[in-house]
Amino acid sequence: MTLTIPTVSTLPTVSTLPALIARQAERHPSALAVTDGSTFLTYRELLDASGRLAAVLAARGIGPGSAVGLLCARSTRLAVAQLAVWRAGGHVLPLDPAYPRPRIAEMTADADVRLVLGDKALLAEVGLPEERALVLTERGTEATAETVPDAAEAAAPALLYYTSGSTGRPKGVLVPHGAVADLVTAPDAVALGPRDRVLFHSTVSFDAATFELWAPLARGAAVAISPAERPSTEELVRDVERFGVTTLLLTTALFHHLAAKQSRVFGVLRTVVVGGEAMSAEHAGAVLRAFPWLELCNGYGPTEATTFTTLHRVAPADCDNGAVPIGRPFGDARVLVLDERLAPVEPGTVGELWIAGGRLAQGYLNRPELTAERFRVLPGHGRAYRSGDLVRQRPDGVLEFHGRTDDQVKVRGFRIEPGEVEHALLQLPEVAEAAVVVRRAGQPDAALTACLVLAEGARPGVETLRTRLAERLPAHLVPTAWTVLDVLPLTGSGKVDRRALATAPDPAAASGPAEAALTPIQQAVAEAWSRALERRIADPAADFLAEGGHSLLAMWIVDDLREDLGVELSLADFLDHPTVAAQAELLERALRAADDTPGADR
Ligand code: ADP
Repeated sequence: MTLTIPTVSTLPTVSTLPALIARQAERHPSALAVTDGSTFLTYRELLDASGRLAAVLAARGIGPGSAVGLLCARSTRLAVAQLAVWRAGGHVLPLDPAYPRPRIAEMTADADVRLVLGDKALLAEVGLPEERALVLTERGTEATAETVPDAAEAAAPALLYYTSGSTGRPKGVLVPHGAVADLVTAPDAVALGPRDRVLFHSTVSFDAATFELWAPLARGAAVAISPAERPSTEELVRDVERFGVTTLLLTTALFHHLAAKQSRVFGVLRTVVVGGEAMSAEHAGAVLRAFPWLELCNGYGPTEATTFTTLHRVAPADCDNGAVPIGRPFGDARVLVLDERLAPVEPGTVGELWIAGGRLAQGYLNRPELTAERFRVLPGHGRAYRSGDLVRQRPDGVLEFHGRTDDQVKVRGFRIEPGEVEHALLQLPEVAEAAVVVRRAGQPDAALTACLVLAEGARPGVETLRTRLAERLPAHLVPTAWTVLDVLPLTGSGKVDRRALATAPDPAAASGPAEAALTPIQQAVAEAWSRALERRIADPAADFLAEGGHSLLAMWIVDDLREDLGVELSLADFLDHPTVAAQAELLERALRAADDTPGADR
């Protein structure tokens, strides 16, 4: 298979991650580099382990240009494996173990992945032939192979992240080493030093992980890994406390949630970096008033420009109203605010943000037309990425975010092209027309909503459609609210009226069976659900997903139940037992166990 990897000749030769880590290992060989609480790797051990694995990879034919999949839980071996692939000269495609198998197959085929490294059970589930899979041990490999020379180069790809594509096909963004090196070493970025600890808790397949893992390692700080696959807010706070984390990255949605709760986590951190959606001034203000010593940063940037393009250190004066600014570009990133003819807008007016400079991705893998459309050479500025974001630049250079030029949306930090979800819906024979919108955008209960017109004679239940979609799409792309209509409303110009669909009230919850009497614990669960879903839930058989629940609301309910009842459900248990009755049963068992514990202080 021939891949079309866009080539770029203007990348600065900054450095590569293996070179940055090697420098730290030389300076502080026995400093802690990465731990998950049971395995501890020093910089020297991280470097040595990755060197051994790199030799194994090289012996299996991995070199410059090879894409290597990584199907692995967050762990020390994940850090070793990424570094090893880079040292062998290859680039990494991080795969989220929670993704549906067809999605993983689509991504590995598009990237022409030669080998997938990962955890035994996960590799077995995907069913790769032996010659295409390699099981990782806690330190990467047990083999004591000869080490190989470091083959990473600044202009070569380091990471491949897939993001939602409007035509129904996810697009692979190729991020070069030089861009990551600039993100993690820029002197005006978030300050990190050998005394810092950064929590790695993001999903591995999103570019927040680039920052959480490699920014601390490039600066001699330590990475503390949150071991839970989907940590609850309480687990997150406990991880911060037990590891002595100093710097935490949060999606905007999670930050707003923790801010609304005045979480104690802000009291122990030095720096919180927030990104993904517009930061509310109200929440930022509340946090800064309660924890005035905290360094709170609003980070903005698309994956195509390597995690963050701009940063803003939030001051109390930013929190008077509306949204907090997104700040100024840092490191080698440059920004331009242009009108539709690509001329600079009048100072102080809103225009589209184009991003130039040294942190740009190489483009989209195998998508030359799309790459040419979004990455253009602008006279006097070199390559620039058309972000689709509307901004206004203040006289002091600080940027304010003013929404999008297109339909792309964010729900709980996930970037979603409604077109991709609509495309998947239209593949279902029962669906004649589909429009996907976000209701209550930017709110904690924002809902990705499918508005459907069914095919003649089709009467599928929403549950059936949801299940079929979830077999193909990652969970964040599966709508949580569903509306069946006779026709889709149109605007005067004949387009689907998305605004009308997004602002229409949610359909009244389908009238369920006659209400059963609830036990006291079921009542407590139903009340916590009702608060989070902002709707009365009184049926013990109510199903969380069918009621429009999602992971952030689940975190919220788990928090509430812990406060109400004094026992905790893990997020995994919550999602595995999605009805009111099943959760109540788990909680009752936990309460009985706590009562039976000698000396239980309750
Ligand atoms: P990230 O992982 O940084 O969220 P994505 O590529 O998933 O990157 O999404 C990028 C888009 O998210 C941006 O183009 C913008 O629309 C939105 N975005 C990211 N950060 C912010 C922010 N701090 N304020 C407003 N919008 C943001």
